[in-house]
Amino acid sequence: MTLRVYNTLTRKKEEFVPIEPGKVKMYVCGPTVYNYIHIGNGRPVIFFDVVRRYLETQKYEVTYITNFTDVDDKMIRKAEELAVTVPELAETFIQAFLDDVKTLGVHDATLNPRVTENIQEIIDFIAALVEKDFAYEARGDVYYRTSKFAEYGKLSNQNLEELQYGIRIEVDDRKESPQDFVLWKAAKPGEIYWDSPWGQGRPGWHIECSAMVRKYLGETIDIHGGGQDLTFPHHECEIAQTEAVTGHPMANYWLHNAFLNIDNEKMSKSLGNGILIRDLVKQIKPQVFRFFMLSAHYRNPLNFSDESLKQASNALERIQNAYDNLKHRLATASATSEIESVLTDRLAAIANQFDDKMNDDFNTPDAITAVFDLVAEANLYLQQERVNAVALQLFLDQLQAFDQTLGILSQQTDELLDEEIEQLIIERTESRKSKNWARADEIRDLLTEKGIFLEDTPQGIRWRRK
Ligand code: AMP
Ligand code: ZN
Repeated sequence: MTLRVYNTLTRKKEEFVPIEPGKVKMYVCGPTVYNYIHIGNGRPVIFFDVVRRYLETQKYEVTYITNFTDVDDKMIRKAEELAVTVPELAETFIQAFLDDVKTLGVHDATLNPRVTENIQEIIDFIAALVEKDFAYEARGDVYYRTSKFAEYGKLSNQNLEELQYGIRIEVDDRKESPQDFVLWKAAKPGEIYWDSPWGQGRPGWHIECSAMVRKYLGETIDIHGGGQDLTFPHHECEIAQTEAVTGHPMANYWLHNAFLNIDNEKMSKSLGNGILIRDLVKQIKPQVFRFFMLSAHYRNPLNFSDESLKQASNALERIQNAYDNLKHRLATASATSEIESVLTDRLAAIANQFDDKMNDDFNTPDAITAVFDLVAEANLYLQQERVNAVALQLFLDQLQAFDQTLGILSQQTDELLDEEIEQLIIERTESRKSKNWARADEIRDLLTEKGIFLEDTPQGIRWRRK
């Protein structure tokens, strides 16, 4: 089973071969930190987290870098609006971003470098481009000379002539050509600035990723990712900058996620239909949002609606219930070491099915089908009167293994422990036997308050979490 990924650069699915066996160097463009992140931003955050987690389950050692754009025009404008400094604004929204993605169960990046911590590296990168004639200074600004990079447009599959049609004609006599893009911007009076060989100013947007990728990961990396809107111009410009300086490919695989729409409409400020992650998770469990994100292939558009969230919630509940029931039965099951090989074979087949789907360009919706196959097998097994603890543990281990990639199960760390619940249920049964109805009711209320539901079954009282 080999992993195959769709490479935007070649427009084909290709076998994934890392530069160094067993290691993956991965860079995902991060946010400009002038606002709270919305549900659309959640798509790359969750998808690339799943890519990284899956690679780790396949025993790759992954270095995962995602940056913060903590200075640019939007940052400067917003800081002015709020009457704070740019670094203050950045600090607020970097913390907010880190909190939000933690809530979504996203694992910490290996490193989150910031533009303002890499100004010297950025200046050095621009100086190297100027030195090689790929960039020129014009009244304190520095621009990239796109006509000099023959492959400009290769990622977004356009050539310079085609690009000319789409471009907004700007009256800017500093640029040699409208396609040229800014690497260094001269500071206007009152703006935040750094000293450079071209005077006081700040970096343009694209150059930061070229500088950070080279500094933290090296000249060529394995995977470079982001939302599909970053293909052009951002990633195209990153390629032009890096490859002009290093002479090597910037990344071997370019991955881009499609967009999240709301009620079949594009999310936009003018439509006023943006939803912040921090508001959403007040309404629904973060795991439901994660599950919803993974219910479509990352290269397909995904529609956010009450209906699609409801579906995600119901589907996830089936998985969570199976998981909780397995744990419940395990607490009282007796261990026997004999397991029928049909069961182990079936579990192995389901595990292979999951990997096959993930290996096919991270096909999460089909991989989730394998999770449901496991749930169906587990539910069937749980119907038996006598269950084997070893088998229950096998089911649980497999579900947990899938969850290492998907991150959709609730572990309820700060809620009642399973043993505590079992103990309360026993006490309640005894209270009822001795006709101590008050205590029995009290226990039932306590369990309901904690989101524990009791159910009478032929095997006795079974419980599940909300
Ligand atoms: P931005 O908010 O434009 O700084 O984008 C940050 C990241 O979120 C980039 O990778 C974008 O491509 C991605 N992104 C923004 N909006 C959406 C959306 N509606 N659906 C999916 N990805 C998005
Ligand atoms: Zn970038």
